[in-house]
Amino acid sequence: MALAGGVGAGKFLRGLVRVVPPEALTVIVNTGDDIVLHGLHVSPDLDSVTYWLGGVGGRARETFRATDELRAFGAEGSWFGLGDMDLATHLFRTRLLAEGRTLSGATSTLAARFGVTAHLLPMSDDPVATHVEVSDDAGAAFDLHFQEYWVRRGGRDEVKAVRFDGIELARPAPGVVEAIEGADAVLLCPSNPIVSIDPILAVPRIGEAVAARRGRAAGVSPIVGGSPLRGMADKLLPVAGVEVSAAGVASYYAGRGLIGGWVIDGVDQGQAGRVRAMGIRVTVTDTIMVDDDAAERLARTALDTALGDQP
Ligand code: GDP
Ligand code: CA
Repeated sequence: MALAGGVGAGKFLRGLVRVVPPEALTVIVNTGDDIVLHGLHVSPDLDSVTYWLGGVGGRARETFRATDELRAFGAEGSWFGLGDMDLATHLFRTRLLAEGRTLSGATSTLAARFGVTAHLLPMSDDPVATHVEVSDDAGAAFDLHFQEYWVRRGGRDEVKAVRFDGIELARPAPGVVEAIEGADAVLLCPSNPIVSIDPILAVPRIGEAVAARRGRAAGVSPIVGGSPLRGMADKLLPVAGVEVSAAGVASYYAGRGLIGGWVIDGVDQGQAGRVRAMGIRVTVTDTIMVDDDAAERLARTALDTALGDQP
């Protein structure tokens, strides 16, 4: 099974389903990024994983005509671009939820439409919202939903703290804890540690369940050569006191007893010794997923690392 954020995870999982039968794979996806826009329930990470596994990642030919119209209305929330095809996903999900389906139920219906046979589970069916506390130029503190921070304001604010609203009351979605307990291996996808993996681990019982499997758990570093390949991990890791490096992220997970193995990129080979000194297995390989073949090689390596089977 795997813990997943958005695009980095989606690419990795395309490789993983070539290594293990997709029906045997459970993916637990971050929902802290979820947001209601125009009355619609938008789940960016669930959708990224669904689209990538469904072969429509990056959705070619996507257009933004409805979003342009919403902007012309001056509609609240139209700073978030929703593609026209993507909009159908949000309309359909929102309708299923209004009919009383859980987010898990809606997720599996959507996944089936895209031909995804891996089991996709939201971390929780209960609402959790990632917020950041930032300070403006004058030093006054204010609070933003993660999407407002990142999409609306382009990540320009200095972040003081990250919070997962609703996390104390959130229950793991049905099957989540069982999937972790029963898995051959637990993989932490190359996703943002602070705003993609941490919300999942912070759901009561999920972090504990992963820690109980640490001997069979491994992650792939999302930091390559001292910076994220995309996204804002470089801005958010320091907020949690974490060095922006492959070894820094390893120590962030290992310090909480979450992983027994860690995969780093060849350019970070010099950090392998530091990671080994944390008492975890390290594999050094090419971690840049330029295509599905590269993702497959990386997934195989991650799985071997989790199982303690050093190549
Ligand atoms: P989202 O798509 O922004 O929701 O994000 P994720 O949490 O999945 O993460 C993006 C993370 O994936 C970033 O930290 C990237 O550095 C990492 N990432 C993306 N592509 C690759 C890749 O090919 N290799 C590795 N090692 N990391 C990647
Ligand atoms: Ca995300």
